[in-house]
Amino acid sequence: MHTLTELKKYSAELVDLHHTLALMQWDQEVRMPRRAAEGRAGQFATLSALVHRREVAEELGALLAQAEAQQESLSVEDRALVRVMRRSYNQNTRLPEEFVAEFSRLTSQAQMAWLEAREQSDFAIFQPLLERLVVLSRQQAEYLGYAAHPYDALLDLYEEGLTTVQVESMFAELQAPLVAMVKKFAGRLAPLAFAEPFALAGQEQFAEHLLVAMGFDFSRGCLARSAHPFTTTLGHHDRRITNRYAPKSLDFIFGALHEGGHALYEQGIAEDLAHSHLDDGVSLGIHESQSRFWENVVGRSRPFWQRFYPELQQAFPAQFAHTELGDFVRGINAVTPGLIRVDADELTYNLHVLVRFEIEKALIEGSLEVAELPLVWREKYRQYLGVEVESDADGVLQDIHWAHGSFGYFPTYTIGNLASAQIWEAYKRYDADFSQTLADGNLVKVKEWLRKEIHGHGSVYLPQELLVRVTGAPLSARHFLAYLEEKFSTLVG
Ligand code: MG
Repeated sequence: MHTLTELKKYSAELVDLHHTLALMQWDQEVRMPRRAAEGRAGQFATLSALVHRREVAEELGALLAQAEAQQESLSVEDRALVRVMRRSYNQNTRLPEEFVAEFSRLTSQAQMAWLEAREQSDFAIFQPLLERLVVLSRQQAEYLGYAAHPYDALLDLYEEGLTTVQVESMFAELQAPLVAMVKKFAGRLAPLAFAEPFALAGQEQFAEHLLVAMGFDFSRGCLARSAHPFTTTLGHHDRRITNRYAPKSLDFIFGALHEGGHALYEQGIAEDLAHSHLDDGVSLGIHESQSRFWENVVGRSRPFWQRFYPELQQAFPAQFAHTELGDFVRGINAVTPGLIRVDADELTYNLHVLVRFEIEKALIEGSLEVAELPLVWREKYRQYLGVEVESDADGVLQDIHWAHGSFGYFPTYTIGNLASAQIWEAYKRYDADFSQTLADGNLVKVKEWLRKEIHGHGSVYLPQELLVRVTGAPLSARHFLAYLEEKFSTLVG
């Protein structure tokens, strides 16, 4: 058989296996009875081990080498497929099997310990496991290899090609202007507060309504409930999202827009790329640019709510009948330095990420001990956000990422924020009447542009390459800072 035909068959098989694992994960988070947990963990271990064996097979290495020898004659898409499969093959084969097993055992224990530590707000419960995870993550960096800094190897897992130096210069550009803007705008927009709870069914209905307006295709996806909202792919025509609903929070709106943004990306990938390693968003940063684009750039803008606020008022008269559009839009953009990253406004959000980046880098290079974390966390929050951390639960224990063994993940959130503003600028060059487009509720026009420029390409281009194609320039903080300055100046009037 032709090398590339064989490689595509191999790719399709691995994709099927990963989608099967994703289905098991979806079921676990959405529907699985509590007592099924142990059985499910066993199923995961069995299937993961079989998948891993297929991923490191010599047969695949040989196929990749043959395909690489024919590079010149391949199409752009086929060359990309070889590149993406090579990357994943190298990552999988560089980590010894005993290491993978130990890492997976430890993260599973660490998640349990983290849950308990957070519940009791007692870092000491998590500390010994985190110490071992840091040691293993350093080991992981050594196995994977890097040019300048061990943290580079971990960053690259989530954002191909990203380096410590690049993240440092990104934050160097962001930090001072963000701190200045927070000072300027904090407390000047009144937050919304609700005396009456939102009916659960109404929340879900409104979330669905927004998803339909965005162009989410319910014949190729669905919306369910889970403790933490997420998006997953179970097949080319099966992109699913979850949302959460609380009695007095607008999370149901912004969660739906956020996950909807991730899902539109996945649903927009070209049919030609189906059933292959290219049928996937290109990186976490670019993925997050899509979710933040819909959640913040579009979903917290005045024109968007010109169209949808009357419907929100009609759906929830007890909460909104006496709130005017302007007060609502100011309320959903209120700037309040706080303790919790996931609740942060657009101005303070990246300062939360900066704290985590500095800590991760120091842990991985060995200039910071895990035991010092609670204290360092407090100092950095005082310094960057001007807030006092009273408990570890609301401090160093708030995120699950480290318990998952994910070091190097957080910076992709900031990349997503920066890229969303840069992509918005490119959109505005395409559609000079952008405000009217949103005020008309013509979100499908926006979606179709994103599809043509970004979604359709799946993983064909490298993340930085894609961004240059779409916006004409590499990632820069400039666009995001200009977007924030203009937006918040207008909001405070
Ligand atoms: Mg996201």
